[in-house]
Amino acid sequence: MEEKLQIIQKNAIEELNEIETKDEIEKLRVKFLGKKGELTLLLREMGSLPKEKRPIIGKMANEVRTVLEENIEKKKLEIEKIEKNKRLEKEKIDITIPGKFPDIGKRHPLLKVKEELEDLFLKMGYDVVEGPEIDTVENNFDALNAPPDHPSRDKSDTFYINEELLLRTQTSPVQIRVMKEQKPPIRIVSAGRTFRFDEVDDTHSPMFHQMECLVVDKNVTLANLKDSINHFVKELFGEDMETRFRPHNFPFTEPSAEVDVSCLVCKGKGCKACSYTGWSMELLGCGMVHPKVLENCGIDPNIYSGYAFGMGIDRVTMVKHKINDIRLLFENDIRFLKQF
Ligand SMILES: [Zn+2]
Repeated sequence: MEEKLQIIQKNAIEELNEIETKDEIEKLRVKFLGKKGELTLLLREMGSLPKEKRPIIGKMANEVRTVLEENIEKKKLEIEKIEKNKRLEKEKIDITIPGKFPDIGKRHPLLKVKEELEDLFLKMGYDVVEGPEIDTVENNFDALNAPPDHPSRDKSDTFYINEELLLRTQTSPVQIRVMKEQKPPIRIVSAGRTFRFDEVDDTHSPMFHQMECLVVDKNVTLANLKDSINHFVKELFGEDMETRFRPHNFPFTEPSAEVDVSCLVCKGKGCKACSYTGWSMELLGCGMVHPKVLENCGIDPNIYSGYAFGMGIDRVTMVKHKINDIRLLFENDIRFLKQF
């Protein structure tokens, strides 16, 4: 018996030394110390021993059990330590790897240009006002002196909501709202979305942005209009920019003109971008407020006069940033927007 006990202890410790995983330890424990383990089975044979031998063997068996248990526990700790070190090695943090930064959004180029324009006009002494995108036919057309047969009033050009309401086709109805509510002197700009039934192409979109400016006071003349526009263009694009006024026809102004500015690419020398004319075409529309429009808003045209001019913010943005397709402004392609 003593010999068998020693053999069990020796075998168990030898096997234990070979072991590399916790699973194997558990298997070994069952093999030697489990209910049907080698040590347990051996102890069952104690009954066949002479009485005086039993306590000695019993004591020895307990010692073997204790030795094995201690060794198993020791091995377990060893393996745990090795596994922990392996895991730490695997999960080691490389503090030299650059971090991941969340993308930070930016203001849309259209919004930036709109704010830049508003700031500019604020500096020039104008108030910034806003108006609704759904307005009345009266404010959008009638009060602005557009005759009933004016082509822009056609259902194929304008988004009507019903007989009396529409999506504004221009920011001019804001001028009407201000003139109806406020007595001169008036000095305002208004910017926002406008809508027309346009097919989408590289220069057209059914939704676009306008900015308009209106001045009404005593003794306002065409000279004031030209001076304001020249000042504005130079502030926006640079001192060396020139303007050119070409007669035009709008129902709400008389006289009316379209304004070209020097080509931004060649500064007026002539290049491919401006078809060698030296001019960026039709940046602004302008004119002296038609006496009938003043009358429609309850302002006496014999005492007061005014001027107005307006431009497409999309167009200004495109000219300023040399963008060749208006659709880029509305597609929200991050690769495009990132550049501003
Ligand atoms: Zn040019």
